[in-house]
Amino acid sequence: MTEKKQASLTTRIVTGMVAGITIGFLLQKLMPDGSDFVIPLYLFDISIRALFVDGLFEVVGKIFIASLQMLVVPLVFVSLICGTCSLKDTSKLGRIGGKAIALYLMTTAIAISLAMFVALMVEPGAGVDKATDTTFIAKDSPPLAQVFIDMFPTNPFNAFAQGNMLQVIIFALLFGMAIALSGKPGERVASIFKDMNEVVMRLVTILMNLAPYGVFCLLAGLFTDLPLEKLKNLAWYFLCVFFVLIAHALITYPVILKTLTRLSPFVFLKKMRDAALFAFSTSSSNATIPITLETATKKLGVNNSISSFTVPLGATINMDGTAIMQGVATVFIAQVYNIDLSLADYLMVILTATLASIGTAGVPGVGLIMLAMVLNQVGLPVEGIGLIIGVDRLLDMTRTAVNVTGDSMVTLVVGKSENQFDESIFNDENAGKNIENIDFHHLDKG
Ligand code: ASP
Repeated sequence: MTEKKQASLTTRIVTGMVAGITIGFLLQKLMPDGSDFVIPLYLFDISIRALFVDGLFEVVGKIFIASLQMLVVPLVFVSLICGTCSLKDTSKLGRIGGKAIALYLMTTAIAISLAMFVALMVEPGAGVDKATDTTFIAKDSPPLAQVFIDMFPTNPFNAFAQGNMLQVIIFALLFGMAIALSGKPGERVASIFKDMNEVVMRLVTILMNLAPYGVFCLLAGLFTDLPLEKLKNLAWYFLCVFFVLIAHALITYPVILKTLTRLSPFVFLKKMRDAALFAFSTSSSNATIPITLETATKKLGVNNSISSFTVPLGATINMDGTAIMQGVATVFIAQVYNIDLSLADYLMVILTATLASIGTAGVPGVGLIMLAMVLNQVGLPVEGIGLIIGVDRLLDMTRTAVNVTGDSMVTLVVGKSENQFDESIFNDENAGKNIENIDFHHLDKG
């Protein structure tokens, strides 16, 4: 059999994305405003919407996201245990956690400040009609003390079942530490977890290979019903958020990375492509954890003892892209409703948005819920969210890609500072390539 050379995973995913977006747009033209297109056949009618949008695209897209999410809890648990027990000195954990959390909070605060600054300059809310099209009910933000209490699971199985990442992280850290301190029995348990880690990572690789199809279906379905006219009315808001997201990813991160590690930001950004594409297509940093983790260890060269901790932590507590949307949205809503915010209000926005991100998981659309908390805090009308909800989906995708890039940047900085980093992997253009294309042929031979 002649070996066919396969295109790289990135090329395949981008092809899936472009094809999905194109088909979505074409279908939108064919079936505007959620309508249907029916092809009459001799005995029965074929509904294009039922067949593709609510059928194939919905089913394959949802299965793709579900299978990514399916991996998150087992992967984080197993690899974090491996990471913790391979740290010879578990007292380092506090230092690593401290560095990661400080960097996460710092980048989020920079992100939101930058966003508010740009929004104040651009004034995206000037001249926008106040009529809202959706009502939005705000949830109260939990008090900070409760956020800390809630990090500790009373029942780890409950935490697994609910996918509560902070609780899973705490349990895995404690379990891993206990393994490291248990002598021979600990070594035996650790070796089982190491093997399990290999197997779960393999599963990630298999799923990554199916991603182009999943991405195609997700985007085709999404773009069929994307409210494009809303984009016109909210163009300034949209562009403002988009511009700051790109600036944060292409300027803030590279500057921080270069200053703190001297590593090449170009190499970093190039290696982030796949994870960013996954994040963009799924709108969920949580569902992207498996890919971010693979990228951090196999492509960026950060040791698993660091990345298994900082990546899931970042997916939960670090959302720079989301903070950017909140910064612009707050200024936008204040402008639309003609409410003047004081300097103290702006500082309050920075504080609430940064802290609100700690307790909320990275799943699609969660940014809007956090925005409601922020608006409440400074007395802005929460129903203002109704104004921007129409264009939020596209921004959600973009900001999730930024969130994931931020998690990886911090992971790299912490890994380098702890000497848990292999520069030759980082500099090797082909590092991690072999994990992308799995060879199924050996199965035939067996
Ligand atoms: N979808 C984002 C994430 O997963 C959160 C958000 O901004 O809604 O990171």
